[in-house]
Amino acid sequence: MSIAKENVLSLFPCEKAEGAKVRTGSQKWLTKQLKDPYVKRAKLENWRCRSAFKLLEIDEKHKLLKPGNIVIDCGAAPGSWCQVAAKKVNATQSDLNRPVGTVIGVDLLQIDPLDGVTLLSGSDFTHKDVQKSILHCLGGQKVHVVLSDMAPKSSEARHLDHELSVELCASVLRFSVGVLRHGGHLLCKLWMGPEQYKLHVALDRMFSSVKVVKPPASRMGSSEMYFLAKDFKGVPSDKLRSTSKSPTEMPSNEGGGG
Ligand code: SAM
Repeated sequence: MSIAKENVLSLFPCEKAEGAKVRTGSQKWLTKQLKDPYVKRAKLENWRCRSAFKLLEIDEKHKLLKPGNIVIDCGAAPGSWCQVAAKKVNATQSDLNRPVGTVIGVDLLQIDPLDGVTLLSGSDFTHKDVQKSILHCLGGQKVHVVLSDMAPKSSEARHLDHELSVELCASVLRFSVGVLRHGGHLLCKLWMGPEQYKLHVALDRMFSSVKVVKPPASRMGSSEMYFLAKDFKGVPSDKLRSTSKSPTEMPSNEGGGG
């Protein structure tokens, strides 16, 4: 196929965000992308990138998103999860007979506007001010679903990437305990590694069910997996006054985020 490499890369902004493979510019990787049925389907179905299918597959199996839901999408660029969420929660009121939902997407990168979605571009989710902006958008309402597909910039040192990924998840978890309504759900990407059990333990204490899921659209060779924590029960009372700064300790729920 005679297609310029720059043009090819611009077709796959998610992969660009994930970093490492694009930087190596491997011909093998490009060939894999061009043959990837999810990439083709994403273009055909107008999803901004192939990641859409990860959320679609998880939602199909585990029934997370419902019309009328309020959803926060952390690490949202280029926006395919926001597209999926907006459709599932009826954020654009395309179905007049169902309740209208809300989707708020946050990313370090620029996200092009999306119908029915409030976007906080150029925003580091882990910063307090950004979390305050999300709370402001929520106007006091509690959230049904928190999604995080955030991935740290790959250093190609697997252990370090894992630790950074755990920190991002811990930040999502700390924020979630302040904004999730009882019965709400959390779906959070993690790069697998030795520290993941700490998150699992913390999630187990706050949700009725915690699963590790890897949808078919998630590439077999990648170390990404997702924690799917359903039915938020709240923070156990012995941890409510915790002031620990450790990212994988149980979070304090003071301040609604952090
Ligand atoms: N789910 C997205 C979609 O379907 O379009 C793809 C997300 S991409 C795999 C991971 C994103 O996480 C990147 O766009 C990256 O900028 C973002 N990210 C990483 N760290 C972040 C942070 N601290 N705050 C906000 N976004 C972050």
